[in-house]
Amino acid sequence: MKDWSKTSPARGLAMGVIAASVMAWGAASAGVTDADILNDAKTTGDVVSFGMGTQGQRYSPLDKVNTGNVTNLVPAWTMSYGGEKQRGQEAQPLIHDGRLFVTASYSRLFVFDAKTGKKLWKYEHRLPDGIMPCCDVVNRGAALYDNLVIFGTLDAQLLAFDVETGKRVWREKVDEYSAGYSMSAAPIIVNGMVITGVSGGEFGVIGRLEARDAKTGKLKWIRPTVEGHMGYTFDAAGNKKENGISGTKNATWPGDLWQTGGSATWNGATYDPETNLIFAGTGNPAPWNSHLRPGDNLFSSSTVAINPDTGKIVWHYQNTPHDGWDYDGVNEFVSFDYKDPKTGKTIKAGGKADRNGFFFVNDRTNGKLLNAFPFVNGITWAKKIDLATGRPVFDDANRPGNPASGDGKKGDMVFAVPSFLGGKNQMQMAYNPNTGLFYVPSNEWGMEIWNEPVSYKKGAAYLGAGFTIKALHEDHIGVLRAVDPVAGKIVWEQKNYAPLWGGVLTTAGGLTFYGTPEGYFKALDAKSGKELWSFQVGTGIVAPPVTWEQDGEQYVAVSAGWGGAVPLWGGDVAKRVNYLEQGGSVWVFKLHK
Ligand code: CA
Ligand code: CA
Repeated sequence: MKDWSKTSPARGLAMGVIAASVMAWGAASAGVTDADILNDAKTTGDVVSFGMGTQGQRYSPLDKVNTGNVTNLVPAWTMSYGGEKQRGQEAQPLIHDGRLFVTASYSRLFVFDAKTGKKLWKYEHRLPDGIMPCCDVVNRGAALYDNLVIFGTLDAQLLAFDVETGKRVWREKVDEYSAGYSMSAAPIIVNGMVITGVSGGEFGVIGRLEARDAKTGKLKWIRPTVEGHMGYTFDAAGNKKENGISGTKNATWPGDLWQTGGSATWNGATYDPETNLIFAGTGNPAPWNSHLRPGDNLFSSSTVAINPDTGKIVWHYQNTPHDGWDYDGVNEFVSFDYKDPKTGKTIKAGGKADRNGFFFVNDRTNGKLLNAFPFVNGITWAKKIDLATGRPVFDDANRPGNPASGDGKKGDMVFAVPSFLGGKNQMQMAYNPNTGLFYVPSNEWGMEIWNEPVSYKKGAAYLGAGFTIKALHEDHIGVLRAVDPVAGKIVWEQKNYAPLWGGVLTTAGGLTFYGTPEGYFKALDAKSGKELWSFQVGTGIVAPPVTWEQDGEQYVAVSAGWGGAVPLWGGDVAKRVNYLEQGGSVWVFKLHK
């Protein structure tokens, strides 16, 4: 485990805003409304939600940049995040009223003029010694609501700033960073509430979703994602009221292990207004050593669907019951509709490319499993997902062995595929309704993994496992795959030497955009997968692109800066890609006139 306190250049900086050149923005503009957020996927002049629409499709109806002219795409501007702080830049930019909002590593927030790149203001959070982000000092983005821009920090605070002045409007402590809590996901806004999760599954935290009044930061409800914990609602005065236990205590967890059960909600959520459900993925049950916690260990490594009005879990689907491989199920659940090939009926579905290597399609009204198939090769931990029972058919020989049945120190080692960094990780896929395809950034790798004894200690890593990640092939690890969720087929794929770690954007222009750790920002033909354009941004890309339209021109933006979990946890793979350079900048492109 890396000691971040020794590497944080933020140490010793004065608390608060380092506001650069706050400039007057003319007349006060209208703030972002709930309607703006609900319509985000259709409105091309702004990007006001993580996912480019609350359903998370990352699809734009813009076609000014298209398969016929994308070769004319050139940089409009780029700006550096500056300083000595580099590491992974995983954030999705937001665009509103001519401003581009982007978060950066070490809990920083930048606001630029979206057309010229002029810096309007920035905020650098003072991080205390001893923060414990498991997987690099990343942030995946902010949320916009009314006149506020809101983001979570690595010391588990949630902050809201006035978009024009950069002045902090509210601040809420979400939890104790000294117990392993941190925040890395982009918040989402649902009906005036800001919805957030927590990071820290490697430290035995308790995963949960929280809803707050987006204008004040005051809590509305808390819903834990470890079975046995109580949910709460809060009245206007802040009084706490029990809102029902999550699941049934000890039904799927033995003894007291549920009290430090993990299931961290570290990669955010999506919201589907048609079903009025928030969908959040949950991380591994803690500790990793599964022999210490017989049972399914709900609601870990699952998709949970939560009613935003009540804060209650309406349905759940567990992608990896009794996870023993750190297959966090935090991957985004993306709503989409399709016509049932047999009945012709429209199915309200959701797709999820899970870290465990299977692509799952669930009925998003009730969670019922509709389809599940591998999107990476050589999966070892399960033979298949049984569509009748909705459960994996485990290969018991591929579960890391129990230390207690051997010498007590180290259980039998297995070679498992995918590695715990997953068939897919934090990088967000995209869905194009014109092609009916999901574009999934995936990786082909495995791991040697074994279990060790472990006991919980507050603020210490709580794994009970050792591991080494290895590539499966000499020539590639990353594969961008076009996935047909109904037929259960891979339609095309594009291989990449380094593991893919950035998200995807797809458009009505017939394009699919993504970046590589080697620094190439690419546009492919969404139908065929043929590469049509690429541009070298000077450092690896591990973030999702966005697109919008301003003054009649279509812009495409992506954050750049190599880092994330691979260099820290990647074992042999980390060594193989240690030639890749860090950075920190945002790039904006448009067509050459
Ligand atoms: Ca929009
Ligand atoms: Ca994990």
